[in-house]
Amino acid sequence: MEHAATLAEPGTATPSGARVPFFTQAATFAALWPEIEANVAAVVERGKYSHGHAVGEFEAALGRVVDAAHVVGVNSGTDALVLLLRAAGLEAGDEVVVPAFSFVASASSVVLAGGRPVFADIDPVTYALDPAAAAAAVTARTRMLMPVHLFCQLADLGAVTRLAERHALTVVEDSAEAIGMRWDGTHAGLHGAGGVLSFFPTKTLGALGDAGAVITNDDRIAETAAALRHHGRFGHTLDHFPGIGNETVLPGLNSKMDDVQAAVLLAKLGRLDADIARRAALAGAYTERLRGCPGVRRLPTVVEREAETNPVFYVYAVEVEHRDSLVAYLAAHHVGTETYYPVPLHRQPCFADLGHRPGEFPHAEAACARTVALPLYPDLTEAQVDRVCELIRAFYGGSRS
Ligand SMILES: *Cc1c(COP(=O)(O)O)cnc(C)c1O
Repeated sequence: MEHAATLAEPGTATPSGARVPFFTQAATFAALWPEIEANVAAVVERGKYSHGHAVGEFEAALGRVVDAAHVVGVNSGTDALVLLLRAAGLEAGDEVVVPAFSFVASASSVVLAGGRPVFADIDPVTYALDPAAAAAAVTARTRMLMPVHLFCQLADLGAVTRLAERHALTVVEDSAEAIGMRWDGTHAGLHGAGGVLSFFPTKTLGALGDAGAVITNDDRIAETAAALRHHGRFGHTLDHFPGIGNETVLPGLNSKMDDVQAAVLLAKLGRLDADIARRAALAGAYTERLRGCPGVRRLPTVVEREAETNPVFYVYAVEVEHRDSLVAYLAAHHVGTETYYPVPLHRQPCFADLGHRPGEFPHAEAACARTVALPLYPDLTEAQVDRVCELIRAFYGGSRS
């Protein structure tokens, strides 16, 4: 490998200030700690530590932020997807069109909900479901379309919605990464039957552990998802769903949200806008420093849509040559990166029986081979962005001109 000679020995002569972890929220949490402590103390005081008052409070607060009629707080974005698919009426054997480039939960949730994922290729610029490929994947058994909004922008919701209307399909959005993104003013996740949010720690609104939510404007879907998260008990605990108490109507899960996570999220929600602005500034700094860098084939490219949209930089992913060597070089220089996602969904062993072939979705495979996510979080400093970009330029042998 041509760059091997330039690899530094790990641990040599690197001032600790030059370390750039892929992710940390230590400074954010330190700044918010008094508020978090007070919120957690209130949870402890009340004595209900799961699916309690703080969860209800967080659901209401988040509902105002995203303008959703219903927020159903759960334990993860993954369970939110399973509950949403079931609540939206997915039945055994129903097909759901899912992009071949996504987090595995986009498709495994379909299997867990009793359906069958059918993969389609992505748009090579936005990495989201290509509407033409999705149209070609529709069969007589297709019931739903699942656009996934990856990294920094929405999928083409206009085209996906029209496709759904043409075939009477339900749109279920994997909006796990998309908090803050809107299409013509309507928040991600609210363009079809519903969507999900993930509060996994690295996400734009990250908890201190796992948490997620179903968001929807549909009363029935909200009521069913709320029951399914709590063993299928309709009307249990949450006063806004009056119902039949302890009777189990549907076999549900235990997907309830912890009140400690809700307490943390309530505190963090207050700085969501500032965090999004900080992420945008850092993304801009990366773009400025990496533009024209040899070896970097594509910087994040926010596309114009037919509607007004806004980017939110959850992930700053670049397409590069010799991706794995660059990752190793940066790691040796104490810079963390992440590969979202190294294996396209149709090549995951758990989906081997779905009948897809290697090479079937070339844009998804190219994205898996070429993209790498650089550190991006509100705690990151511009000096750290400089450091990452200098190393990338050094790796490709191009000094800044
Ligand atoms: C994070 C994520 C999920 C799953 O969320 P968890 O809270 O980690 O379970 C699903 N889909 C996408 C696209 C994600 O990025």
